Amino acid sequence: MTSRKHVDQESQSHEDPANKYPKPPFPKKPQEVPGTESAMDPQADHGEQSYRGKGRLVGKAAIITGGDSGIGKAVAIAFAREGADVLISYLDDVEERDAEDTIKYIEEAGRKAVQVKGDISAEQHCWKIVETAIKEFGKIDILVNNAAYQMSRETLQDIPAWEWEKTFAVNIHSMFYLCKAAEPHMPPGSSIINTTSVNAYEPNPTLLPYAATKAAIQNFTANLSQILLEQGKGIRVNAVAPGPIWTPLIPSTIPDHEHFGENTPFERPGQPVEVAPAYVFLASDEANYISGATLPVTGGRITI
Ligand code: NAD
Ligand code: MG
Repeated sequence: MTSRKHVDQESQSHEDPANKYPKPPFPKKPQEVPGTESAMDPQADHGEQSYRGKGRLVGKAAIITGGDSGIGKAVAIAFAREGADVLISYLDDVEERDAEDTIKYIEEAGRKAVQVKGDISAEQHCWKIVETAIKEFGKIDILVNNAAYQMSRETLQDIPAWEWEKTFAVNIHSMFYLCKAAEPHMPPGSSIINTTSVNAYEPNPTLLPYAATKAAIQNFTANLSQILLEQGKGIRVNAVAPGPIWTPLIPSTIPDHEHFGENTPFERPGQPVEVAPAYVFLASDEANYISGATLPVTGGRITI
């Protein structure tokens, strides 16, 4: 049997982080939006076998949108192992298996797991998510706004107006609806964490609407932080800016995903498990004095 001491030593290995996970090229395996974990090649790492909690979120209750797959799944597993009850929201019937798998890991960690399916671009659905969390947990300590939509388009003329509107509705309107609905139920010491992107700093020309929403999320985060702290609510608001991360979003929306992540100093995409600790930190009391900030997790891509 592996002793605790042995595992701790193992986690402090001197491995070069650049070589820790698969490097492109990957097989070309396009998926339909929203994509699923099981169709990914290589499979992504959400910390299923590796993430070890240290009691940072004991007794907290969290909502994570897009918690079925990718970054949201890794955050859900990490939060549960840190001691939090977790509600995951997701969009589609095809994501049912991904959602069930996340639920399994939350429950295995001994925490309460709740799932809510539906479209967060509708304000009423956001109310439903918050009402369900209150019914199940009695409070909300952590709100992770993580779900998003994007689509690659080569030219301005290729972007339909409906897609422009949908991208804003899913990525930023939902954030307003969820923050507004959740805030009255969030006690002092709570934390809101929004998922932005390296695209807020360095917009990819094939992702015009998406990059614009991610820049809006940065501004929203900084502003809501001021509003809530100036009102004495004691709720911190921060963002995480991932670089290229290997999730179902990528093969379902990026045609040349074979080379995804090559444009980082690590020459590979990050894995969801490599992003989750940023959310744990920002949600925890260790980040007590941090609000209005954005934490980049970009594999060395620069955001200044
Ligand atoms: P993902 O596909 O695993 O997660 C996105 C989730 O959003 C999906 O699981 C889906 O259920 C949910 N979703 C999409 N539209 C929705 C809607 N209308 N209503 C409700 N839920 C909806 O992909 P991911 O890469 O883990 O994405 C998570 C976040 O990370 C997103 O905000 C994304 O913009 C951000 N991000 C990802 C990368 C990357 O390279 N993967 C880079 C920077 C930022
Ligand atoms: Mg999904």
